Amino acid sequence: MSQQKQNAVLELRNVTKTYRVKQGLFGKARPLTAVNDVSLSLPRGEVLGLVGESGCGKSTLAKILLGLEMPSSGQVLVDGQEIGAQDRLSLARRIQPIFQDPYSSLNPRKSIFDIVSLPLRVHGVGQQADWDREVRKILDIVGLPARVMNTYPSQMSGGQRQRVAIARALIMKPEIVICDEPTSALDVSVQSQILNLLGDLRREFGLTYLFISHDLAVVEHLATRVAVMYLGRIVEEADVAGLFDAARHPYTQALLKSVLTPEPGLGVPDTQLGMAYPNPIDPPSGCHFHPRCPMMTEHCRKVAPRSLPTPQGRVECHLFDPESPMTKAEVA
Ligand code: SF4
Repeated sequence: MSQQKQNAVLELRNVTKTYRVKQGLFGKARPLTAVNDVSLSLPRGEVLGLVGESGCGKSTLAKILLGLEMPSSGQVLVDGQEIGAQDRLSLARRIQPIFQDPYSSLNPRKSIFDIVSLPLRVHGVGQQADWDREVRKILDIVGLPARVMNTYPSQMSGGQRQRVAIARALIMKPEIVICDEPTSALDVSVQSQILNLLGDLRREFGLTYLFISHDLAVVEHLATRVAVMYLGRIVEEADVAGLFDAARHPYTQALLKSVLTPEPGLGVPDTQLGMAYPNPIDPPSGCHFHPRCPMMTEHCRKVAPRSLPTPQGRVECHLFDPESPMTKAEVA
């Protein structure tokens, strides 16, 4: 077992999630594999960036990690213990989410005090005076004045609401935070403030983040490692410097080019791949990326690539497989 796996606070082993999806009123239900044989290891105190376009399976993976969905197969381990063996409340103490849209993730009818103190009340931690003190403390930590306690989400800006969501996520002092596109609903100017805050909090509290984003530029800001997801599979994983300096997979390279678009924080990046994202209910044969890949050959159309180790991580592409006819042809 590698050193990294030994220290993993969160580990996924061959996790697959398949749904049965009906197309049309009279259509037969067909399997849709949202997460396909994903193995990831998240060492304590690190930030793993999980990147891919909308529909690639990132959010399904987040739901599995939060115990909101069960995998169809495979294991999710928190500190070496299977997630299914832990009750929802104790799991919620250890893993907390921060979602994309602070407008819809905060109850508009509740005051900021009610929203931020809710985890303490649900878990039966302390009394009214403790809740008051703890809410003041965490609001201060996320950069909000105590007076906002008696206001409502509608009275706040997008950035302030996301600070409230962060305060709510951190008030129970979780070990792991699943950040699911936490800045993509915010103005570009506010995004960097929230990213800096998340970075500061990680250092201060020794937090471990899974940071999900469609935008590599955002991930570069915070992540120590990056995993790139395409149609439910991890097609490349590397430490952040390795990925940005020497991306191997053609899909990662396309995502990196999209970082250079004028406003990288806005919407789904234009990957310049010339074709829409494939329907996950009907994935392409062989390498799922082949219809969009500029390096595609006949071999890619027929045979799925295997996961191969690289100096910085791993990649799933025939170009790097010494046994592939593509690389043999190149060598010849
Ligand atoms: Fe492209 Fe082939 Fe590599 Fe897939 S296996 S990414 S189609 S070169």
